[in-house]
Amino acid sequence: MIDFHYERATNLDEASVLANFADTMVIAGGTTLVDLAKLDVVRPETVVDISRIPGLDAIDVDASGAMIGALAKMSRVADDPRIKDGFPAVAQSLSLAASQQLRNMATIGGNLMQRTRCSYFRDPAAYPSCNKRTPGSGCAALGGLTRNHAVLGTSEACIATYPGDLAVALVALDATLHVGRRTVAAEDFFLLPGETPERETDLRQGEIITAVSVPASPVARRSTYLKVRDRQSYEFASASAAVGLELADDGGTIADLRVALGGVATKPWRARAVEDALRGTPLDEEAVGEASRLAVAEAVAFDGNAYKIELVPRVIARAILTLGGLA
Ligand code: FAD
Ligand code: SF4
Repeated sequence: MIDFHYERATNLDEASVLANFADTMVIAGGTTLVDLAKLDVVRPETVVDISRIPGLDAIDVDASGAMIGALAKMSRVADDPRIKDGFPAVAQSLSLAASQQLRNMATIGGNLMQRTRCSYFRDPAAYPSCNKRTPGSGCAALGGLTRNHAVLGTSEACIATYPGDLAVALVALDATLHVGRRTVAAEDFFLLPGETPERETDLRQGEIITAVSVPASPVARRSTYLKVRDRQSYEFASASAAVGLELADDGGTIADLRVALGGVATKPWRARAVEDALRGTPLDEEAVGEASRLAVAEAVAFDGNAYKIELVPRVIARAILTLGGLA
């Protein structure tokens, strides 16, 4: 564990000023940051505790949608009946994440900002080569064990997956992040690794996520989060899909569809090709299976993760058919 200065912010302006200093990181629930500091992956000189800032943990829901404060605990959002009812994919993505103890500590903002679980990234002593941790140092995963790595959105510099569940549901449902004094679409907030895998999000120095808003819609109301993983709890996704489905008045035609993927890409991954192929078509098992394969048309497998290319279309199809009452 490293030494660091500790500051507690009492309001947002104070937090932004403090967080603007170099080598400063904010801490909310601490379930990721403390872990990474112990592993020597991050070495902040100063840690700014935002967990006591009043008003940032509210959950407001009205006819236009949900506004969820960044300091709301994962467990509280997952259990909120208004979120379960109007935005089931959001509630499910949270209740299927981590463990009850972690969900009781961890916040929405911290969840979105969690770092990759690439084991090479998390072990600096054994693996000095990691472009995400130390730009230009190489990538120990290439040529290593890649079972948990990405098949979509990879670059020559980094093939690590984005591990979180909530962000996948938010990207599917066209959510917006409130960041400092601006807003940014959830889909645009997360960045592809390209040649700069150390830049994971659009968050700028000194900025703090204050809230997430999710628009109310028929696809949000009829949505689900399907997570496939090596064990039934306390495990990150091998592949997951957040899906929202709106059926036309005839009850059998897909009026609208949203699909986003987790566990298989370097960022929460919107599968628009699947949406476009199925929108306006009859809900049919064979057509859904065929369209779901479009999600992996551009996928690239490494030594250990080709199974994800087989798994992803099945996860998408199962989620769509379940929502449509056909599975
Ligand atoms: P912190 O640890 O306080 O912060 C995390 C990061 O976010 C830090 O970089 C911090 O600077 C930054 N940050 C925090 N709040 C803000 C803010 N408002 N604005 C800007 N930056 C901010 N997650 C899943 O989604 N699915 C899982 O299956 C899952 N399994 C897990 C299993 C284990 C064993 C563990 C330890 C974690 C797991 N997690 C999983 C991750 C867990 O959900 C995160 O650790 C947690 O959500 C982080 O929230 P926090 O409030 O504790 O963040
Ligand atoms: Fe680092 Fe990315 Fe390579 Fe993992 S995949 S070792 S995070 S550069």
